[in-house]
Parts: sequence; C-alpha cells; structure tokens
Amino acid sequence: MNSQSKAFKALPSVDRALQSEVLRPLIDDIGHEAVKEVIRLKLEEARTLIIKGDEALLEAIASDSYLNDFYCEVANDVRASFSSSLVPVINLTGTVVHTNLGRAQLPEEAIAAMTTVAAQATNLEFDLEAGKRGDRDLHIDASICQITGAEAATVVNNNAAAVLLVLNTLAFRKDVVISRGELVEIGGAFRIPDVMKSAGCTLVEIGTTNRTHLKDYEAAINSNTGMLMKVHTSNYEIRGFTNSVSEEQISQLAQEAGVTFVSDLGSGTLVDLNKFGLPHEPTVTETLEKGADIVTFSGDKLLGGPQAGIIVGKRELIAAIKKNPLKRALRVDKITMAALSSVVNLYRDPQRLTQRVPLLSDLAKSVQEIKELADRLLPIFKEKLKNRAEVSIEDCKSQIGSGALPLDLLASKAIVMKPIAEKGHTDAELQKLAMDFRKLPKPAIGRIHDGSLIFDLRCLRDESELLDQINLLNN
Ligand SMILES: *Cc1c(COP(=O)(O)O)cnc(C)c1O
Repeated sequence: MNSQSKAFKALPSVDRALQSEVLRPLIDDIGHEAVKEVIRLKLEEARTLIIKGDEALLEAIASDSYLNDFYCEVANDVRASFSSSLVPVINLTGTVVHTNLGRAQLPEEAIAAMTTVAAQATNLEFDLEAGKRGDRDLHIDASICQITGAEAATVVNNNAAAVLLVLNTLAFRKDVVISRGELVEIGGAFRIPDVMKSAGCTLVEIGTTNRTHLKDYEAAINSNTGMLMKVHTSNYEIRGFTNSVSEEQISQLAQEAGVTFVSDLGSGTLVDLNKFGLPHEPTVTETLEKGADIVTFSGDKLLGGPQAGIIVGKRELIAAIKKNPLKRALRVDKITMAALSSVVNLYRDPQRLTQRVPLLSDLAKSVQEIKELADRLLPIFKEKLKNRAEVSIEDCKSQIGSGALPLDLLASKAIVMKPIAEKGHTDAELQKLAMDFRKLPKPAIGRIHDGSLIFDLRCLRDESELLDQINLLNN
C-alpha cells in the first residue's frame, strides 16, 4: 500500500471523531451539529492535502499522536468560531470617553438594573395603574426633569438620532438657521449639514467661520424659518478674533419671531465640571435656563451612561417629537431604559457621583494618585521589557474625548516604552510591541507618539489585571 492510501485509511470517520474523548465535552457544551460540521471540513482539507501528496501531512498522519492532534485542532476551530469578536480591552489611550473603545463604562447600579429587566417581562410600555398600554419614556421622564429642570423628556438611540428627530419634527421643509462656526463634523459621518438634509430641512448658514452676530440671525429669519439652532462646537475651538451670539439673545429673537430655538449640546453634562477641577462645560440645566426650547445630548459621553440620545425641553414640543413616526424607529429598548434611568438617578446624590459613576471617577482622578500607580507598575514593565524597550514614567495629558473640552487636557502620568532595536528597525519594533499588547487575552490599548508606546494610566481601574496581562507578554 502506498503512503497516500495508508494516510486515507488513517483518517478517522466522522462518527469516530464525534465519539472521541477530546470532542465529547465540546458537543455537550456547544452542540452536535457545529462540531460535526467542523470535523467534516477538517477531513475534507486533509483529503485534499493527501491527494496533493503534502509531505508534512503524510508524515504527521504516520505519527502515533495524529488522531489526538486532529481532534484538538477541530476543538480549537470550533471554539474559535464560537468566540465573540467583541471583547473587553484595557483603555490606556488617555482618552476617557473613547468612541472606538465603546465610550462610558457603566456604574454597577446600572448593570444590575439591566440584568434584572433583561431576564424578565417588564412594564416597559404598560401602565400598571390603568392596566393598559403605557409610555416607555415615563420610566425616565421624572428623574431627568427633576435634575435638569425641563418640562418633559424623551429618549432615543443616540444623540445623532435625537438631532435628526428634533429637526424632522420641528423644521421639516423649513429653514434652520445656524452659525457657520457651528457646522460641526463629529466623526463617523455625523455632519450637521448632512443631518439637516436627511431630516428634510434647509440649512441656512449665517455669519462667518469666526464671527456671527445677532444681526446675522435677524437678517436670516423669514416666513419659512422653522428653527434657530445652536450646536456645541464640541471637538474644536475657534480662537482669536471671534464672536458668537449668546443663548439668551438667540432665545429672545426666536420668541419674537415665533420659531423654536434648539441647542445640541453633544456631551451634555448634568453637573458642573468645575467640581472636579475641570473647566466649565455648559450643563443641560444652564442651557434650558438660558432659553433653549429643546436641548439634545448623549447618554454615553459625559453623562457616563449607556448609548442613548436624550431630548429635553418644552412639554408641547416633546409631545410633538414623540408623535413623529420616526420616533418608533429610533426608540430604545428596556435594557437601555433601565441603565439610563439608574445612571440619571445617581446624579440625585452629587456627593457620591465620583465614587459611583466610573467616567466621573476617571475624570476626577488626581495626578498624585496616577503617579503612585505608575511608580508601582514601572519596575514590572522594566523587568518584563528589559530586552525590548527603555521604560520610564513621563508627564502626559489625557483628554475627555468624544467632543468634550477639546483643548483642555487633564494632567496625567504615563508608562512610556521606547523600543531598543538595531538602527533602522525601531519603528518595526515599536509596531510589534504595540501589537503584542493588543494580542493579549485582554488587549491593552495605548497610543504611539514620538517613537514610543505610551500607556496613560488615568483610566486603568484594575491594576492586578494589567499585571496578569504583562506576565503573559513575550519577552
Ligand atoms: C457627539 C455629538 C453628537 C452625536 O452624538 P452620538 O451620541 O454620538 O450620536 C451630536 N452633536 C454633538 C455636538 C456631539 O458632540
């Protein structure tokens, strides 16, 4: 018998493979069909290679351990195809609200609330008093209104949806007047002019990039004006010879003209960030007090909650917004509702906010605290990377991210890793180092700057977890 026919004979049948000690527990765990399918594919692959006369495989099949190796390969493939590609990572980028890393991490209270409603039927849209259909927004309306002073509130999938819904409801086929300096692009294709178009509104840009005056708004208003809009320039700042018109002035003008004044705050904080030693950001309450009829903001930026878009303001306007058929397409589910309601309630106890809302705890962390953490980690990084990089602690600046306070960076400390490599190979070595950290079971994500890999420690919450990961790194 030649080696090829021997090899064919040595391959297990599908049934025999399914009976193997290695695969039986996996069948209990994942299911018969999925394992069977992978066995079939693997056998087909092996047969093709045998026909080709693949030396390596023919040799492997001849060895005693071949069957066991084959079953282990099947098991690995099955597990890989069932593992989620969405995994937790360690955010060491220095950007606290990082959109690509999933923004805010939720408070424990919110996670508990989500778990409770996820597993059970709820009164999401059922009025227990009246015994008939209810309104899902009522689970959140009272607490948001209590904290912001708004008359009414409604919640949608994210703030982009909130802006779209507000425009489409209140200014469909009408002019929306906005300052040229506020035609924001948020990233990920959210651009104010495009959103206006999608909402069926006509954008009327006024003023210049750096200066817009009250008279520009006045001149733009005509019988087709539906809305005056202000968008928080959340990811950039125009400095120097500038002028913008205050909310109070725009509000008064809107009232006189009988049109709506909407302010898109973006990050929309509910507390004065001054409390945490940060520069002031306009709060939702202030913006309403200054006369905005409607304010929109995100649930997962400075609020520190789940992805959501929150719309607050005048009762009759919110009622109109809730009647828009688009609202049905943009509404949130019971899990988001539970999380958001729980996070908003935490704001009613301002003293404990930084202990309970992870995002605010990251923002409020002192440089001293971060430095002590860096001092503890430095020797471990040094030892592990002694053949690969020079490691030091350096001052750095974290940023809030997602368009809050773009220019005001938070002082922080970083572990800085500068690869040691032969001339001309440092960049390759740097990329490899960053990649090795990304390939850890719990990937650690930093940023690359000036020939070094930088781990800003502001958002590191579990020190021992990072230590475990470093131990797994290649030397
Ligand atoms: C972030 C932001 C948005 C979009 O909010 P998402 O929650 O990301 O949909 C809209 N407007 C402004 C001013 C923003 O900063």
